[in-house]
Amino acid sequence: MKLSDIGGEFAFIRRVTGVPNADPAVVKGVGDDCAVLEYTDARYLLVTVDMLVENTHFSLDWHTPYQVGWKLMEANVSDIVAMGGMPRWAFISLALRADTEVEFMDEFYRGLYDSARRHRVALIGGDTTHGRELAFNIALAGDADKRFTRFRAGARPGELICVTGTLGKSEAGLRLLMAGRRDGCLGGYLEPCCRMEWEGAAIARRAGAMIDVSDGLASEVAHICEESGTGARIDREKIPLSRDTIDAAHAVSGDPYEYALYGGEDFELVFTIESDRIKGLRKEFSDFTVVGEILQKEEGLYIASEGQRSDLKRGYDHFKD
Ligand SMILES: [Mg+2]
Repeated sequence: MKLSDIGGEFAFIRRVTGVPNADPAVVKGVGDDCAVLEYTDARYLLVTVDMLVENTHFSLDWHTPYQVGWKLMEANVSDIVAMGGMPRWAFISLALRADTEVEFMDEFYRGLYDSARRHRVALIGGDTTHGRELAFNIALAGDADKRFTRFRAGARPGELICVTGTLGKSEAGLRLLMAGRRDGCLGGYLEPCCRMEWEGAAIARRAGAMIDVSDGLASEVAHICEESGTGARIDREKIPLSRDTIDAAHAVSGDPYEYALYGGEDFELVFTIESDRIKGLRKEFSDFTVVGEILQKEEGLYIASEGQRSDLKRGYDHFKD
């Protein structure tokens, strides 16, 4: 039986994580952006892992080693920020090829450390081994104020759904590269920037639920609804797109809204918030857009576009297609 036969990535995760956890220090295990553990009276410990594999997450035809190192750290920090936390300690595991050049790894670490400095992360351990393809994994720990740690499960009907920045830029860059285009805006794909800690914290103080965008808006809203036991409506035309993303989509005959809904790795934040708290948030942080509303579960989970209602597909799955 293959992984695709049982329904893909998320079915696989359910299959191997069904064992109940009796440890009282575990506040949240699998099923959020980070695991959440008891730490001090006032703070939780957060832990996340994220791996990049050659020819799955990056291609050396397209990425510089600097960009691979940068993206690896940003992808991990994004999960800590998505819970309202501060990233702190990183451990790295590397699978290198026998012919991997030292200069290549110097550049990889330059990118990694540039991102680490940006977020004040200390790299404090790791493991190096060899393999046929390059694989880089980081385990990152951080901490968060218990009162303002935001889970996927915190959404309530009536709250508005918001996203930071613009969406679809990573997919737009990938599509340009796949079409053989080296011009246009590739940075969203090659060198993505996650949101800063202070931004996540400002949102977390007022939000119901929060998650980062790693598999597209549709998939992230579906995760929030699943964990919160709610439905949701996403207003397609309200999804924020940059001029570059729209231009890129047109250049390769794609639909930029589809990139935002089903593309990956934008590392923006999706959060839910009561409407009367929006004004207060805007005073501290204003780079976000309202794109929908949390509904009762019975009302379903759908995309509204020009008065039409369409079902949500899921985002990227590693073992499907
Ligand atoms: Mg995440």
